[in-house]
Formats: sequence, structure tokens, C-alpha cells
Amino acid sequence: MKTAQEYIESLRQLKTRVYMFGEKIDNWVDHPMIRPSINCVAMTYAVAEDPQYADLMTVTSSLTGHKINRFTHLHQSTEDLINKVKMQRLLGQKTASCFQRCVGMDSFNAVFSTTYEVDEKYGTHYHENFKKFLTYIQDEDLVVDGAMTDPKGDRSKAPHDQADPDMYVHVVERRPDGIVVCGAKCHQTGSVNSHWHIFMPTISMGEADKDWAVSFACPTDAEGMYMIYGRQSCDTRKLEEDASIDVGNAKFGGQEALVVLDHVFIPNEYIFLNGEYEFAGMMVERFAGYHRQSYGGCKVGVGDVVIGATALAAEYNGVEKASAVKDKLIEMTHLNETLYCCGIACSSQGFKTKAGNYQIDLLLANVCKQNVTRFPYEIVRLAEDVAGGLMVTMPSQKDFHSETVVGRNGETIGEICNKYFKTKEDVSTEDRQRVLRFLENMCLGAAAVGYRTESMHGAGSPQAQRIMIARQGNIQAKKQLAKDIAGIQ
Ligand code: SF4
Ligand code: FE
Repeated sequence: MKTAQEYIESLRQLKTRVYMFGEKIDNWVDHPMIRPSINCVAMTYAVAEDPQYADLMTVTSSLTGHKINRFTHLHQSTEDLINKVKMQRLLGQKTASCFQRCVGMDSFNAVFSTTYEVDEKYGTHYHENFKKFLTYIQDEDLVVDGAMTDPKGDRSKAPHDQADPDMYVHVVERRPDGIVVCGAKCHQTGSVNSHWHIFMPTISMGEADKDWAVSFACPTDAEGMYMIYGRQSCDTRKLEEDASIDVGNAKFGGQEALVVLDHVFIPNEYIFLNGEYEFAGMMVERFAGYHRQSYGGCKVGVGDVVIGATALAAEYNGVEKASAVKDKLIEMTHLNETLYCCGIACSSQGFKTKAGNYQIDLLLANVCKQNVTRFPYEIVRLAEDVAGGLMVTMPSQKDFHSETVVGRNGETIGEICNKYFKTKEDVSTEDRQRVLRFLENMCLGAAAVGYRTESMHGAGSPQAQRIMIARQGNIQAKKQLAKDIAGIQ
């Protein structure tokens, strides 16, 4: 297994093409806007090195018997599914942002089980292809981006009906030794920080969409592939001098990018679906199910940090004993633990797929994610309520350090800021700055990408879960229950 440092160094070996602010970024590994997101993925390696987390972070591979990082594992039991959620909560607690490696893990499990069923029907060799690929990923301990969300163009039209066929990733050429693909995937979590990508379809497809029903693995620095980096709220604070406190979380962050495939050649051995359109929906549903489960772990871990920071802010203001404050912290905890309950529940009710790995309970995973589209917003609302407006109105770190004289008696800007933002005797204004900027970062700054808007749209927007809840909810059977007891024939 790799160390965190080996992971970071391994990224330098890739020829990944990254663009930001209209320019190519050559040394993207050390770029101040990108590096926190790399540090965040590196934590999935660092925590795995820590003996106290060995049971959660490492497992025995079902493919090779080797010791591997759980982020590359095929879940072998409901206990594995539960441990996945616990691992994600732990990493959310350690990073207070999106650590990105779960999309790969979720794609491994969805593609593993789906390819088995495609081969069973068509005699294809996708499952063998995938097992070989995953064995390599596990043994090398690599990061893989699971890429699903196509740009989708005109949402009222199927892939083959789009004015521009590239609105969904598709095959443009079939050769004896492989396929050539074009298209793009939007808001891809951790794309730049991954060694490989697994591409999957994003919707169910019909026969006319055959060329769009395609799944494959591709190295991140493949010829013809590049990424345009997504910007985040307050991101350029990372480029400022003397702003490590203003940044809110100087250590870690998330990352999303637009990934473009411009005539990329995919050899046969890396193809996992190629025209078997009726399996596109199965792959989507399984991947989305796993990722909806994931949010019952990672968002809860970040929520733990939001709650902790809120309690600190209250303490620094001297209001921690107020019953209204205590009650708000109880409410935040209740909401956060409800999300965890959902993550654990859909895992404990998991079942074995035909291929042998474990799938979560789809209804409960969709309920989990539906709650995630709401509760973090309420948690953030309460955090802002308790923290107070200073979270967004406080002068900059540079002001707190400024020696420019402004006062009648020669007081500097720094002294004035420190005077008026002082609360309790034993609380430094710097600690107050730190906790409020940290909350700002998670509630509406760069990390809010992961905690707020991603809670809404990541792993599918709320309506996608409602469709699944409608499908899985079995209203017919519930009507029968009522009829039986009420005596209705
Ligand atoms: Fe993992 Fe959560 Fe980020 Fe998805 S949003 S990659 S589950 S940390
Ligand atoms: Fe996500």
C-alpha cells in the first residue's frame, strides 16, 4: 500500500492536462488552489497507515487475498457496507471536506456487479476485464474517479436526439483493438487527483442510444483527455498572502472539474460496456445507490465538525450555557445522527449481487440521500444562527496583523481589531477568527461545495431520489395492508 507522500509524488509522474482561469497549469500538484484537495485525498492513505484505524481502513482483497485500502474494496458483506460508511464519517471528521476517493469505490462495486450480468446475457468479457483492472488498482493502491454525469444538453431529449452528440459520452469509432470516445463529464469530484477514471452512462438508454451506452477505464493522462478546473466560493483567498486564517481550512478541500474526452482511444481490455444499452440503467442505479449511501457517512463526518465549531463559537462568545444555544446544538446533533442512521440502515439491509459483492438497500439509500438534500441546510442555518454575523463581516487577517496607525493614541489597525473583537478574557481574537472563518468555509465558502450544494445535487438531485422512492415504495402492497384490516374486498 502507498503512503500519503507516495500518493502525492505519484501524481507528479502523470502528464495530466489541467486548465484553470483560461490557462494550462503545469505544476498543478503544488498549485495553492489545488493542493488542499490533494492533501485531502492523501488523508485516505494517511489514515490507512495509522494502526488505530487498521480495521476500518484496510481489508483483505476478495480478488487476491492481499491487504488493500478499503477505498479499493468490493464489499463482501453487510458489515463491509457498514464499515464503508464509518470510514467515510471518520474521513469527514478528519478533513471537514470532500476527500474524493469514494466515487471510485462506488464505481468499482457498481461496475463489478453489472458487468457480471451483462456477460451472463451476452457472453461478453467485461467482467474479466474489470477484475483484471481492479486487481491492478488494488495492488498499486491507486485513486480512480468514477465519472457519471454527462452535460446532458437539452434535458427533454435522449442522447441520440441531441443537436450535439457529445452531450453524452459516446463511441465515435470502433476498431478491432478498441473504441474511440468523445464527450465530457461535468463536476467530476477528484478528477485531477485521480490516476485513472471509470466512465459510466448517466441515464437509462434505449436501442437508438447504443453508441452512448458505454463504460470503460482510462488513465487520467490519456491522449485527448483534459480537465477544466471548477472554481469554488472564496477560492482565490488561497492565492492571497497572509490569508491562512481567512481561507478557513488551509489544510484540506474538495475538487470538481469538467473532464473532456476528445477522441480518446480505449483498448478492448478496458471496456466494461459497449452497446448493451439495457444495462445502462442498472449501472446508473447501482452506482447512484452506493453514492447515496456514501453521503450517510461523509456528510455526517463534516457535520460533526460543523457542530463542534458551532459549540466553540458559542463558548468563545460566553453563551455556551444558554439553554437556547444548547438546544440548537441538540437539534444539529439530532439531524446529523439521523443521516448516519440512514447510512447504517441501508448498509445493514444490503444483499448479495449475482456477482458476489454486496449492494445496499436501494429504497433506504435513496431516503438517506433525500434527507441529505435537507438536513445539512438546517444544520448550517443553526450554525450561522449560533455563530453570529461576524462569521461573514469580520475584517481580514491582514487587518488583524496591520501596523498602520489609525488611533488618536497611535493604535494600529491590528490593535483596534483585537480590541473590538475581544470576548472572554481567556479567548484570543485569533482563535475566534479561526473558528468563525472555518465555519464560513464549511457553511458558504469553498468547503460548502461539498457540504451544501453537493448535498443537494451530488449523487443525483432530489427529484432523482423521489423517482426511486416512488419505484421502490410499493404503494400497492401498502393499500392491501389497509384493505385487509379495514375489511375491504
Ligand atoms: Fe466521498 Fe462524500 Fe466526496 Fe462523495 S461527496 S466523494 S461520498 S467525500
Ligand atoms: Fe459527491
